[in-house]
Amino acid sequence: MQKFSLHTHTTGFDGRNTEEEMLTRAEELGWTHIGFSNHFIVHPEIKNAPMYKYAVKGGYDNIYSSTFDEAVEKFAAHYQKIDELRRKTDIKILKGMEVDYFASKEWREGFSQALAELKPDYLIGSAHFVEHKGVLYNSHDLKTAPAIEQNQLLHRYWQNERAAVQSGLFTFMAHLDLMKKVGLGQSEEWVEDEQNTVRLIKESGVKVELNTSYFKFGNEPYPSPRIMKMLADANIPVLMSDDAHAADQLGKYFDQAETMAKDNGIKTLFNPFEKRLTMPFNNQTER
Ligand SMILES: [Zn+2]
Ligand SMILES: [Zn+2]
Repeated sequence: MQKFSLHTHTTGFDGRNTEEEMLTRAEELGWTHIGFSNHFIVHPEIKNAPMYKYAVKGGYDNIYSSTFDEAVEKFAAHYQKIDELRRKTDIKILKGMEVDYFASKEWREGFSQALAELKPDYLIGSAHFVEHKGVLYNSHDLKTAPAIEQNQLLHRYWQNERAAVQSGLFTFMAHLDLMKKVGLGQSEEWVEDEQNTVRLIKESGVKVELNTSYFKFGNEPYPSPRIMKMLADANIPVLMSDDAHAADQLGKYFDQAETMAKDNGIKTLFNPFEKRLTMPFNNQTER
């Protein structure tokens, strides 16, 4: 059983427990490593996104920043807490980020500067937002878009995923088929987009997570068995993530997910901390 998670969230962002509380739970579980990967979401229009008002209402609007300076300030404080915790525990704590990739020159420049300042250990690639006709749709909002636009938005979602994959910035990709959260993107129509994405994942060398957080709503993780089979066929490294937003979610459903991975042809789950692996895990440097 995997004794680490690299996809977790804490208070100060949209998690419900502090870094320290998460660490205590990881110790109880006998884990060797924990990585904190709070949201790094920077876009000048993000506070105009339909999602933003719900975030304010829910008290987690801190995950959204209009400028890189704003995000860097939040992460600097969070990483400082990690530095302090590192002195108190035997568990290796990694500094991560779950990054929303936006494919503009301005974003790339701002992001490189943020990386130079914050020096994270690893980066998770994600696309929670799709830009369409000047509106930033969150995956939750896709359901409310008119049917004809929904398809365009989903195509754009997969384009964003591929752009993030090809950026070479990321250690692994989060929840590939995120839109199934709102019941979209599961028909056969989307196989081609999924295959194209998996092909680029293979070429780029980025890894993929098997995200267990969806087990509580359905009976499968992200990505779906259909995509898991594609990943297995392409021999792409897959690691498990709980995407824990609370301490009691750490490692949750890892056993079910592992069984499911095996059933879909993924023979071994990727463990970046195994000694025999020599590949550099830290890929902050831009390719
Ligand atoms: Zn996410
Ligand atoms: Zn997450």
